[in-house]
Amino acid sequence: MADKRIYNFSAGPSMLPEQVLTTASEQMLNYKGSGMSVMEMSHRSSAYDQIIKDTQQRLRDLLQIPDNYKVLFLQGGASTQFAAIPMNLLRKGNADYILTGHFAKKAYEEATKYGSIHVAASSESDQFAYIPKQEQLDLNPDADYVYLCNNNTIYGTEWNYVPETNGVPIVADMSSDILSRPIDVSKYGLIFAGAQKNMGIAGVTVVIVREGLLGSTLPGTPTMLNYKTMADKDSMYNTPPTYAIYILGLVLEWIEQQGGVAAMKERNEKKAKLLYDYLDNSTFYQAAAAKEDRSLMNVTFRTPSKELDALFVSESIKAGMSNLKGHRAVGGIRASIYNAMPIEGVEHLVAFMRAFEETNGGK
Ligand SMILES: *Cc1c(COP(=O)(O)O)cnc(C)c1O
Repeated sequence: MADKRIYNFSAGPSMLPEQVLTTASEQMLNYKGSGMSVMEMSHRSSAYDQIIKDTQQRLRDLLQIPDNYKVLFLQGGASTQFAAIPMNLLRKGNADYILTGHFAKKAYEEATKYGSIHVAASSESDQFAYIPKQEQLDLNPDADYVYLCNNNTIYGTEWNYVPETNGVPIVADMSSDILSRPIDVSKYGLIFAGAQKNMGIAGVTVVIVREGLLGSTLPGTPTMLNYKTMADKDSMYNTPPTYAIYILGLVLEWIEQQGGVAAMKERNEKKAKLLYDYLDNSTFYQAAAAKEDRSLMNVTFRTPSKELDALFVSESIKAGMSNLKGHRAVGGIRASIYNAMPIEGVEHLVAFMRAFEETNGGK
């Protein structure tokens, strides 16, 4: 069965390390002698308590999360955080948003329901093909926070610097690049990420938040969206997404075994370089994102025509690859090469691209 697995370039939910799937299947019927599946376990049992504690500790170790940050395991996907963030962090009522893609824009639109939200920079008029530079940011020194989306899953751009905000906390959506490279958590007020791109399966969203930002919410904030409540109850105010947290734990264990996030970065750079070098040397394919802002996780490009893009996608399926079609908002082709994508998958794709160019490239 395992030999029938294909290279899955999906943007999310996306491929998992095979070791994680094997372990989960081995433990499916009887988790470590408990006589039951993790799915069937009380979230208050000692076996489950160990799972959630170990998972949190692994994440703290891998990202070197300082002690004055809380780690929360929440539900509702990354999109629920688009509302929870302003509800928990707006105090004076102002925030700066930097619009670098689809999800940053959605977060911005949601936030406008709760306060006075200012666009500090936007690359929308340029098809979100780049990340604004520090000097292009129009930051309000009095803002409650500055919001950015660290990796733009649809457009294939990624922040390669942490902006200077003069003490205003940075809130970063890292749904599609968390754990792909080391980060300095202390430079952020809040980091959040849905698990289903780079660290697990749909159902759990991780929030890493500085303690000092907790404890003041807008009137009417639902209990379930109050970070302080969730922090005080160790993410157990209600039933947490138990199985998704367990899978996250297995993925974190796998990352540890690979050598941690520094090793992930090295692997991811190697994989992305294979693709970008090929694209840069080809006159047939065109990379979509500005060179200095290219994502290590989502590589976006196009062939000379929409027809060839479509042919590329249908032929790639026959060649054992899936989900290479670009997001409907932008078209073209997108290869999502998260941590779990082995280098062999990228080599397979590049070989396919070369053959496709030879067949369809004309003279
Ligand atoms: C996928 C994605 C989201 C939305 O995640 P959901 O869990 O589906 O709500 C938000 N931000 C980024 C950067 C994403 O890639």
